[in-house]
Amino acid sequence: MDKFEKSGKHLEKVKLWLNPSIKPNSAEQSLAAITYVDVELASERLQRFAPLLEHLFPELKDSKGIIDSGLLALNIPLDIPTDCGKLWLKADHTLPVAGSVKARGGIHEVLEFVEMVAIKHGLLSDDKSILSLVEPTAKDIFKKYSVTVGSTGNLGVSIGVIGAALGFKATVHMSSEAKEWKKAHLRERGVNVIEHQGDYALAVAAGRQDALDDEYVHFVDDERSTSLFAGYAVAAERLMAQLQSLDIKVDEENPLFVYLPCGVGGAPGGICYGLKEFLGENVHCFFVEPQESSCFQLQMVHPEQANISIYDVGQNNKTEADGLAVPVASQMAVEMMRTRLSGVATTNDDYLFADLYLLKEYANQRVEPSAAAAVSGPRALFNTKEGKEYLEKNHLTNKMNNANHILWATGGLFLPPDEYHEFWSRGKRAAKTLFG
Ligand SMILES: *Cc1c(COP(=O)(O)O)cnc(C)c1O
Repeated sequence: MDKFEKSGKHLEKVKLWLNPSIKPNSAEQSLAAITYVDVELASERLQRFAPLLEHLFPELKDSKGIIDSGLLALNIPLDIPTDCGKLWLKADHTLPVAGSVKARGGIHEVLEFVEMVAIKHGLLSDDKSILSLVEPTAKDIFKKYSVTVGSTGNLGVSIGVIGAALGFKATVHMSSEAKEWKKAHLRERGVNVIEHQGDYALAVAAGRQDALDDEYVHFVDDERSTSLFAGYAVAAERLMAQLQSLDIKVDEENPLFVYLPCGVGGAPGGICYGLKEFLGENVHCFFVEPQESSCFQLQMVHPEQANISIYDVGQNNKTEADGLAVPVASQMAVEMMRTRLSGVATTNDDYLFADLYLLKEYANQRVEPSAAAAVSGPRALFNTKEGKEYLEKNHLTNKMNNANHILWATGGLFLPPDEYHEFWSRGKRAAKTLFG
């Protein structure tokens, strides 16, 4: 029995914080650590390496080496008004190879590194196909190099799997939240997993230390990497094509709302950055965090206190949403979001589990608890006074019939069945308590 059922105490409601610094006009955007050119280069790189990925991962045959997911019409009974537009599920919980939203960013960064090593060693001159990178001469060189990363789980899976597949040594520093099965998944693929007793920030620091002054070690820095961020942002241009093929109009009369589960802020930040480039003030991006790990909202509220930690304000980082259990936000992501993000919703594990259950029962989608956080987004927008204020202030209230809402399901593919079943059972109980 979880704490909520035992104590019978009244549940903390989903909350919404609105970003007072958002600037609708693109000319007023804050200076960016990256520019859209970086995103275009990332997109081209993922395209260039697609034949190599197809060769390394047979599951990418149909998509010819492109790792992406569908946009699915979603029909679930949500505790929001009925006339507020259409719901969609962005199915990153089905992303092959990495099994989570970490795929685009993490794999992009490792590809950028392999490209650099290959060029340095003369392996990628004009006359050579990208597939030459799987030949023994290349592998002999790659095995001298390592990629390393600190992770609560999913970033480690993304970096570890692609790094090992390319022939690098791969080391993943896992925080105490990391699930056993994610460690096992990596070890089966030849990745060196180092377990830490501390939280995510500590795991990252350990990885960063590893790579210090060693040109043979590449550290994927989840708190600072522009390569990772640019890779995440590629999701936006691909989503634009999906919106078009599904005839989903986005303009002043047809607003788009996007709800993104947030840990350090890199993945949702990249996606929001990309979407704002294409859709400007007609897209409204909201992050969703667990109430006990809401580092991104905290940093947005306290711009003067760089690297403020959730522990400073009495949050405990205890949540089953392992992908979101992060004490300190990425300062880069916060800066990128300063003038772009609409707001941050905070939710709790009872909602995460109830929504995980709803997604299975009504849409047959299997997501992990972190991904289920997206479902609290619309709940926060429609059921709080801050949400109503946002709609009023932006003259959206009477356009909601035409609105589209994308719930970004960020992970779940590799969840072991028994682990998932436990989540589902807990979700069933939580749904009963919450929704009757
Ligand atoms: C990592 C992760 C997120 C959030 O990404 P950040 O870059 O940490 O903000 C959301 N959902 C899942 C499942 C994740 O693994």
